[in-house]
Amino acid sequence: MAVRVDKLERDMTKIVGKDHVFADKATMTVYAQDALFFDIEEHNLPYAVVRPSGAEEVSRILKYANEKLMPVHIHGAASSIAGHARPKTNCILLDLKRMNKVQVFPERGYFEAEAGARVWEVRKVLAQYSAMLPIFVGSEPIATIGGVVSVNTSAHVIDAAFGKPADFVLGLKVVLPTGEVLDTGTQSTRRPAGVELTKLFTGAEGLLGVVTDIRMRLIPLPDVEHIVAYYKTEDDVLDTVKEMYRQRIPAPLFFEFLDRKSAKVGFEAVGLKDLHASVAMMSIHCWSKVGVREKANSFIEFLEGGNPVNVKVVDNEEEWNKIWSSRSEAGNFLNRLGTSWVCEVTPRVDKLKDAYHEAEALISNMESYKSPENYTFGHIGAPTIHAHCFIPTKEISNEVRKAITIEFMEKMEGVNVKYGGCGGEWGLTALRVPFLKKKYGEVYYRLLVNLKKTLDPNNILDRGNLEGWI
Ligand SMILES: Cc1cc2nc3c(=O)[nH]c(=O)nc-3n(C[C@H](O)[C@H](O)[C@H](O)COP(=O)(O)OP(=O)(O)OC[C@H]3O[C@@H](n4cnc5c(N)ncnc54)[C@H](O)[C@@H]3O)c2cc1C
Repeated sequence: MAVRVDKLERDMTKIVGKDHVFADKATMTVYAQDALFFDIEEHNLPYAVVRPSGAEEVSRILKYANEKLMPVHIHGAASSIAGHARPKTNCILLDLKRMNKVQVFPERGYFEAEAGARVWEVRKVLAQYSAMLPIFVGSEPIATIGGVVSVNTSAHVIDAAFGKPADFVLGLKVVLPTGEVLDTGTQSTRRPAGVELTKLFTGAEGLLGVVTDIRMRLIPLPDVEHIVAYYKTEDDVLDTVKEMYRQRIPAPLFFEFLDRKSAKVGFEAVGLKDLHASVAMMSIHCWSKVGVREKANSFIEFLEGGNPVNVKVVDNEEEWNKIWSSRSEAGNFLNRLGTSWVCEVTPRVDKLKDAYHEAEALISNMESYKSPENYTFGHIGAPTIHAHCFIPTKEISNEVRKAITIEFMEKMEGVNVKYGGCGGEWGLTALRVPFLKKKYGEVYYRLLVNLKKTLDPNNILDRGNLEGWI
């Protein structure tokens, strides 16, 4: 049935006000775009973008959508890399960024944030209370707290050190796909035992409800010491990570890595001398200045037992900022030189080296583009390998970009399946549905489909993401 966009605009205006509804082609095109590196198509364009002010308006929009059987796509900042954020059908697109209030309650031990608050803003507010947000996505200036909680990613933070958002979220307000509003969890710092729905919605990737409000435990800001270690080969770094787990060395907050080629690009871009080495950088945390120094010293002792060329504590803030930027901006630096697409491989720790080299070999043997180069970096201590398929030009057709994305994703997921990995950061649906089925099997997938049907009988929310999209 044809959708009357003018009528939809009028109906949405009654709910959110005329300043918060858009339906012009230019705005729809911008909102349909996500971080994937091939173009959107006509069927990805929303009918209208609607910017609600809170749970009550979200609820009215979803009740309307159910009445009209119209899909609704939830939009945080659309920075998702695995295709979640790109609408798969024409739809109402819910932009949550008006919902951006952050309130800290130190006397209760938690803070509350509306879903559209940017991660960066949440961190700034928490810092005023000497509290930390244990989530460090590379997209922090744009990504929303609702987006990262809905994907349940901790990103740069090593799971073994701090856990994932699901370990810190005390409660949520969720608008179900049918429009009912649900409060989960607790206002106590003691999380409920037993069957508890907070965890169901944390990491639900927008399939089961719209998260509008998030309550998270306050974590005191730790003291931190930074370490950089240089290695002759990438294998030396991979062996070090394996040993860290085998010897049960407490995991640092961050343990990042650049292979030799990426280190050259990154170091030169930030004005550091290229040392022709593979670089590992760590941040050690502890809640006392003396304690953190001791922990850093014993971590250095552990590193020296491996095979580094050089290891040191970096006290100088300017130097650390440069070293850190060489890694955190590595993707951007690479994209200045050409075009790259990235994968996420999270193998079993004891298979890290095998998975790493298989990822490299896959890039050399790509069929959709002959002999691209490989640049690898990532949150190696987690472990996450972000291997990049790099082409030294920006002149690549849309068809080739799409073919590279699909081939690379499929082949990399084979490495994840082979070596016991999961969707450690980017989630498991949208482009990753074939992987989800391969990894967990049809019974698991059917369970998810049935769960979705129970909560979303008309398949309103993020339609297409669970069906899989390639
Ligand atoms: C340069 C760059 C660096 C990145 N670095 C990292 C990294 O280090 N680690 C990492 O894990 N990821 C990284 N990402 C990916 C991305 O930033 C994260 O996945 C982030 O969690 C997405 O947040 P978002 O607000 O953009 O959500 P979106 O991309 O808008 O949404 C993601 C999914 O969640 C759903 N959703 C969003 N908000 C809600 C809500 N309130 N309720 C229910 N569902 C919702 C959406 O519908 C979608 O399905 C990076 C991306 C870029 C572009």
